[in-house]
Amino acid sequence: MDQTHIDALRAQPVPPFLHLIDGKPVPASDSGTLDVLSPIDGQLLTTTANGTAADMDSAIASARAAFEDGRWAGQPPAARKKVLLKWADLIEANALELAVLGVRDNGTEIGMAIKAEPGSAAGTIRYYAEALDKVYGEIAPTAPDILGMIHKEPVGVVGAIIPWNFPLMIGAWKLGPALAMGNSVVLKPAETASLSLMRMAQLALEAGLPPGVLNAVTGEGKVVGEAMGLSMDVDVLVFTGSGGTGRRLMEYSARSNMKRVYLELGGKSPNIVFADAPDLAEAAKVAAGGIFRNSGQVCVAGSRLLVEASIHDEFVAEVAKATEAMRVGDPLRLDTAIGAVNSETQLRQNLGFVDMALSEGGRVVTGGSRVLEETGGYYMAPTIVTGVTPDASLAQKEVFGPVLGVTPFQTEEEAVRIANSTVYGLAGAAWTSNLSRAHRMVRKVRTGVMHINTYGGADGTVPLGGVGQSGNGADKSLHAIEKYINLKTAWIKL
Ligand code: NAD
Repeated sequence: MDQTHIDALRAQPVPPFLHLIDGKPVPASDSGTLDVLSPIDGQLLTTTANGTAADMDSAIASARAAFEDGRWAGQPPAARKKVLLKWADLIEANALELAVLGVRDNGTEIGMAIKAEPGSAAGTIRYYAEALDKVYGEIAPTAPDILGMIHKEPVGVVGAIIPWNFPLMIGAWKLGPALAMGNSVVLKPAETASLSLMRMAQLALEAGLPPGVLNAVTGEGKVVGEAMGLSMDVDVLVFTGSGGTGRRLMEYSARSNMKRVYLELGGKSPNIVFADAPDLAEAAKVAAGGIFRNSGQVCVAGSRLLVEASIHDEFVAEVAKATEAMRVGDPLRLDTAIGAVNSETQLRQNLGFVDMALSEGGRVVTGGSRVLEETGGYYMAPTIVTGVTPDASLAQKEVFGPVLGVTPFQTEEEAVRIANSTVYGLAGAAWTSNLSRAHRMVRKVRTGVMHINTYGGADGTVPLGGVGQSGNGADKSLHAIEKYINLKTAWIKL
């Protein structure tokens, strides 16, 4: 990957994107389109089909037909594996094209996007391709005159609603296990980051996925997302995004066919630094990266920094130094540490949180404002606010932007109490050289993921999911497969 290659790709015009239904590009039934503005400069990048409820229904009908005739589910596992491995290869072969397209659409810094997006998506698809012929049924320990078998069957049609922060990575977390288990999928990308995911879906067809097995419909969440949620013909709905939408999806399910709903929602993840941390300078650098990469638009972002009072001032100064060294700028430059915020709406929301924090007694140590406004793009300086009380808005509500709130604590018990004082429970970290304390923090802080002396690292072998209002049903790892299968009992009298 070099800058010249990236610059050449960014200069290419982006064609309009249509739905992908039954293996073909299809316009919206009323011919409507949505403008796609690039967060890099606020300019029109291209358009996508502005889907209608009828478009979603036809994508679901196509997926249902594909499932019922067994063109995918009925193939031998080795054949499905071959297609998925080929797809992963194609994603890798087109990695830079996919990453640049995605960055032009959502603003993530390219250095991160190339790894976290096509790199991670290809790895995820490959992981589930390799796993699919290692999922066995079971024989139950029944009475000797009975054969009790447990079959693992695909669920049928999976609806997947994807957010804008990491469309390929999060998309692959759903598509990999869903397709590996033989399901058909209807994909609904986010309005402000659909392009690279639509391109990745096209590559699946090029890899040999039969038409109709993966359909993708663009458009507004409240229109096509709602139609998917209310469909009587979607068996499982998987979602990453905001709590508000997650709540709606559960309502849609209750009002329609009671489809299973798996949610990965946001967080307010605590990064807890004790005075006995092994390396405070390292902890400070990682704390800054742990909140500010991708402009804080990361579901596991360490957005609450809890610092032992005895080292508070010194540690905050270190984090501020590390933060000020992160250059905000054009996300398609390899030397940019922090790219653009996804949309103007999101940027305004972030700035509103800073104002609210100030009105609640917080103090801005660095950042706090929009920058590079002359570019027309949506950029915000990474922002640290101190004096955030545990009940302040900045400590309780997910910003999903580059805003870090700092709260001091006196004791381990107080740190745990503050850490557990939100409705969320996605991720967290503790920095300490005390082994017992490290294990106590893993046990006592209520999250799906707890890091010790690091922040944010993981790979496809471990689950990622939340507790509380951060959601249910983790992505990644072999455990994710359970969401995409039904258990069926065969009870046979011998
Ligand atoms: P959102 O929940 O509105 O959007 C996520 C997806 O849901 C998009 O594809 C959207 O089109 C779809 N959607 C929206 N309304 C829908 C509806 N009524 N029915 C069905 N689908 C619908 O989130 P957003 O507005 O893009 O971002 C807002 C907040 O979401 C952020 O501030 C952040 O808190 C959270 N978020 C979290 C994650 C995460 O990784 N956990 C990712 C993105 C956003």
